[in-house]
Amino acid sequence: MNTREQLLALNEELRRLKAEGRRTVSVSEESLGVLRAALQDEPEEPGQGSGEAAFASAEPAAIFRPAAPSAPAPVAAAPKPAAPMAAATFTLPEGDKATRWQALREIVLHDKVCAAHVHPGKQIVFGVGSLEASIMFVGEAPGGDEEIQGEPFVGRAGQLLNRMIKAMGLERGQVYIGNILNWRPEMGARNADGSQTGNRPPTAEEMAYCLPFIRAQIAIIQPKVLVALGKTAVDGLLGFDRFKSMGAARGSWHEYAGTPLRATYHPSYLLRQEGLVSAAAKKIKRDAWEDLLAVMERAGVPISEKQRNYFL
Ligand code: URA
Repeated sequence: MNTREQLLALNEELRRLKAEGRRTVSVSEESLGVLRAALQDEPEEPGQGSGEAAFASAEPAAIFRPAAPSAPAPVAAAPKPAAPMAAATFTLPEGDKATRWQALREIVLHDKVCAAHVHPGKQIVFGVGSLEASIMFVGEAPGGDEEIQGEPFVGRAGQLLNRMIKAMGLERGQVYIGNILNWRPEMGARNADGSQTGNRPPTAEEMAYCLPFIRAQIAIIQPKVLVALGKTAVDGLLGFDRFKSMGAARGSWHEYAGTPLRATYHPSYLLRQEGLVSAAAKKIKRDAWEDLLAVMERAGVPISEKQRNYFL
C-alpha cells in the first residue's frame, strides 16, 4: 500500500468507528507526526462534507444517485485536550419569537467563549431559517465553509441537505437549521497558508458549553419535529448515554423536551455513500429517505406517491 492508500484505509476505519458511536481514538504522538507529514502532501478537502456534492436535482430519485469517486476526506486527529468549560449562561428578554431569537443571536455572536474559539477572519455560526418552521434540523458543528459564511450547512453537506429538503417538497427557508456547536472545532492540522485542514467532532465539553444555545433556539422556534443529523446531534439533544450508535438511534421516534425527534444520518456521512454500490450503502441511503418520510408525515407535510415509493 502506498501512503495515499494507507490514509484512505485509515480514514475509512475512523469513519466506521465514528458511525459506530466512538467519539475518541488514542493516537500516539509518533503516529500523529507521521500522519501530519503525510497529510502535507494530500490535497485539501474543505468542509465537513467529504465526497462530491453531485446532486443536480431535488427529485427524490436523484438525491442519492451515485457520483464520481471522491477525493479522500482529511483524517481526523485526536482533539486537543479541552479547557474546562461550563455551560453558557444568558437571559433572554420577554417578547415574541422574533424579539427573543434576535436577542439570542446577538448573545451568541458576541459570546466571548465562542469568539475565543474562532480564528481571525472566521465567524461564529448561529442558526438560520423560518421562525415558524415545522421542521428543525440540528447538525454537529460548522465546517470550513460555514465559518467563512457564518451560516450552517452551506458547504458540500449543506448542498446535500438542501436537496434533501427540496425532495421533501420544501424550501430551505421554510425549515430551521442549527448546530450543536457554534464554532468550527479546532484541529492542529494546517495547510501551508495556515488554514485548518479537516474537521473533528466537538468534545463533550465544547458541546456542554454551546448546548444552551441550541436548546434556546428550539424553545423559541417550537418546531413540530426535530431532526437530529448524526450522532453528535443525537448525543447533544438526547444525552450521551442514550444510544451506542446511529443505527440504534434512528428508525423510531424519540422526544426532546416534549418535541418529537427523529435521528437520521448526517449529510456528510451520506455523501460518503455516494458511488458505493454495496448493499450496506444502499440501505443507508434508503433508511435516510425513510427517516425523512417519517418526519414529513409527523410534521404534516404532504407526501406524494412518487415520494413514498422512492427506494421501494
Ligand atoms: N456539518 C454540520 O454538522 N453543520 C454544518 O453547519 C456544516 C456541516
